[in-house]
Amino acid sequence: MDIRTVGVVGAGQMGNGIAHVFALAGFEVTLHDISEDALSRALATIEKNLERQVSRGKITGADKAAAVARLHTTKTLTDLGQSDLIIEAATERETVKTAIFEDLQPHLKPETILTSNTSSISITRLASRTDRPEKFMGFHFMNPVPVMQLVELIRGIATDEETFKTLHAVVERLGKTAASAEDFPAFIVNRILMPMINEAVYTLYEGVGSVKSIDESMKLGANHPMGPLELADFIGLDTCLAIMNVLHDGLADTKYRPCPLLTKYVEAGWLGRKTQRGFYDYRGETPVPTR
Ligand code: NAD
Repeated sequence: MDIRTVGVVGAGQMGNGIAHVFALAGFEVTLHDISEDALSRALATIEKNLERQVSRGKITGADKAAAVARLHTTKTLTDLGQSDLIIEAATERETVKTAIFEDLQPHLKPETILTSNTSSISITRLASRTDRPEKFMGFHFMNPVPVMQLVELIRGIATDEETFKTLHAVVERLGKTAASAEDFPAFIVNRILMPMINEAVYTLYEGVGSVKSIDESMKLGANHPMGPLELADFIGLDTCLAIMNVLHDGLADTKYRPCPLLTKYVEAGWLGRKTQRGFYDYRGETPVPTR
């Protein structure tokens, strides 16, 4: 199937990055959010990130102008109905996601492909709540979307081959690389990454190391470009906790139990960079460890 028009639901960290890369690759994009603020912040972020790509010589000013012209925003979900492809990137809560697909369904073309950018929720279960489980897939972008090369493609139990091939071709058109993952909790990247981040929080909780020593150890000792706690702040501690809960519940193994200190940071509303405080405090000139 030839994909030309794309509807993105949710204009947060991920939604704005997804809208950015699709508009730049020549797709007509409509970005929807329930919050007017989120939409205007998303447009400002996309503009700034495109400008950065121009100043680094990665794209031209004309590429930027054409991408911006292909990008539309709306607070009305049903405006996305005529899109060839829907990418749901709203808050990581199953009830939010199923309600979005239910509301969209009566307005969709029969051939429209539905996808979710969920980090951890079962694709098979989300698909089963729609009228087209064979045209439903997990479409998992990494953060920040314009920079990260990988996209995980997750087939639900009913996903057909044509849907998989169509999305594989879309990933190639974006200039990114697809990895195929089976539909088990947290797929590939987060199945491996989140237990490592959770273990870093346990290492802090048990007093084995400070925020600084844990991050420095993994950067200099394991050659990771970012420390695990710095990375957790970047992803969002609420997202990290939600994924650990999905692993814990879905695989029923105590090795996935979320660290109580991670829960405490989330309870405090210290969610990382997006709230200016997490394992580091970002309110000053340079990030300061909070423990
Ligand atoms: P975010 O909190 O930055 O953005 C979520 C957006 O969804 C908000 O703007 C919110 O207003 C909007 N929203 C909430 N309910 C909505 C509704 N009913 N209709 C339309 N919009 C609605 O979250 P995010 O980090 O962008 O995550 C979005 C999705 O992407 C989640 O499923 C998450 O698991 C996944 N994801 C996140 C990352 C990451 O590193 N943050 C990476 C890969 C995938």
